[in-house]
Amino acid sequence: MLPEYQNEPFGDFSSSERRAMMQRALRTVAGQFGTTYPLIIGGERILTEDKIASLNPSEPKTVVGYASKASAEHAVKAIEAATAAFATWRKVPVEARARVLLRASALMRRHKEELGAWLVYEVSKSWGEADADVAEAIDFIEYYARQALKLQGTEQPLYPWAGENNTLKYIPLGVGVAIPPWNFALAITTGLVVAPIVAGNTMVLKPASATPIIAAKLVEILEEAGLPPGVLNYVPGSGGEIGDLLVDHPQTRFVNFTGSKEVGLRIHERASVRQPGQIWIKRTVLEMGGKDGIIVDETANLEAAADAIVGSAFSFQGQKCSACSRAIIVADVYDTMVTRIVERTKAVKLGNPTQPDTFMGAVIDRAAFDKISSYIAIGQEEGRLVAGGEVVDHELLEDGGYFINPTVFADIAPDARLAQEEIFGPVLAIIKARDFDHAMEIANNTEYGLTGAIFSRDIARIERAYDEFHVGNLYINRKCTGALVGVQPFGGFNMSGTDSKAGGPDYVALFTQAKLISEKL
Ligand code: NAP
Repeated sequence: MLPEYQNEPFGDFSSSERRAMMQRALRTVAGQFGTTYPLIIGGERILTEDKIASLNPSEPKTVVGYASKASAEHAVKAIEAATAAFATWRKVPVEARARVLLRASALMRRHKEELGAWLVYEVSKSWGEADADVAEAIDFIEYYARQALKLQGTEQPLYPWAGENNTLKYIPLGVGVAIPPWNFALAITTGLVVAPIVAGNTMVLKPASATPIIAAKLVEILEEAGLPPGVLNYVPGSGGEIGDLLVDHPQTRFVNFTGSKEVGLRIHERASVRQPGQIWIKRTVLEMGGKDGIIVDETANLEAAADAIVGSAFSFQGQKCSACSRAIIVADVYDTMVTRIVERTKAVKLGNPTQPDTFMGAVIDRAAFDKISSYIAIGQEEGRLVAGGEVVDHELLEDGGYFINPTVFADIAPDARLAQEEIFGPVLAIIKARDFDHAMEIANNTEYGLTGAIFSRDIARIERAYDEFHVGNLYINRKCTGALVGVQPFGGFNMSGTDSKAGGPDYVALFTQAKLISEKL
């Protein structure tokens, strides 16, 4: 009997013991820099000539590790290995599959600081953000293991019919392709693979090219926990080079993707085309981008609202799909709120996250640095710069890190590019609304629908937000980031995805199909 699900507690870095553990982990991990990681296909480790160098965004001259790079042939081989493994894995009782997962979460707990240290180096997460990423990975494993047991381990309730024995069971789909983003490099990658696996599917994992090393660590952990060869195949490679092939392959039964709108839509389109030899309709579970807004009205607790806006906008450099990129403030409190947001933004500590007090590290890579810089230039045209905005050529910095100051533009129009397009960096647009009605209209006026928040003490308005604010995750009087597995199931509407909820009660079922068996007695 499993104990009841509980979220993994966050690390307390105010304790000197915990800080020392993290320092040790950072040193241990730094000692492993430059290691080469092989592809893993059907349990076979394959080193390739061609490699992906994973760089530390805070010090891009440092190679965190080299991942072998899969070719088209490797991608096909991985699908074939997953197809072969499916024949046996689907028959393994769900209790045994869940046991593999639970051993993996125990291993993650044991190596928590070390996994966090990999994230500090590979994606430039602060200690707190890295710790939360690892905790979320553990939560996904614990939560999905229980969910699969519930879905597949018990009889489903059906109405009786005289003279017949009727049974409904949830069986796996087949071979899935997992395509994660780099931003929750451990948590999302874990969630995308373990939910289908515990449901009896086999997977091909193509990690994001910026974060193949933490993904290799996940695969090693699942292997150590007893996952048989071929159930999870690890094929780092460029999305542009092998992504289409994995999605198109006729043996691919489903694609579990999290990333940008553009790539998600491409996958959706390609997966809908029947390939020669394909005998099913592919399923796609797509979690995509956001343009998340926080509304503040004149009745709100303005201090709490300013804390939430700045925290949601700049934690992990604004590189969360749930990040607040629009602060929608009613006219009565607009100037006060701009002042408070600016004060807090100026206090944000930017730097190398190997230091415990760093709040914001570097953005992921040169391409992100350039894209965000171009939006800062657009902001100069579209609004009034009130904080940050200095674009430093990273090559002029001693360590060359991709650091961007937290940046705030006020007086942005609701239809401006800064108010509509996902920037995915530390840039906040403040938009003035005439009143609450106008604020609600602005909040819903994007093609996305991921997260949103409202700060108000007016009960009637809060009730209206329950109904009218069209986002998958709506928060009242709190920040719009930091959803907890099992507590705040996560996923958005419209162009933010296929309306699924990661960490929610229906998630594992997405990777199953229901089979009804009716036996005449
Ligand atoms: P991305 O550029 O869309 O990449 C995501 C993944 O897709 C990567 O593994 C990428 O591989 C791969 N890919 C690229 N082209 C492909 C193709 N043609 N076929 C198949 N796969 C392909 O997104 P990202 O920059 O990694 O992540 C940021 C985005 O993710 C943001 O839009 C953010 O809002 C979104 N996100 C959403 C959620 C959510 O829950 N809704 C959570 C986190 C992030 P390469 O790395 O090799 O290009």
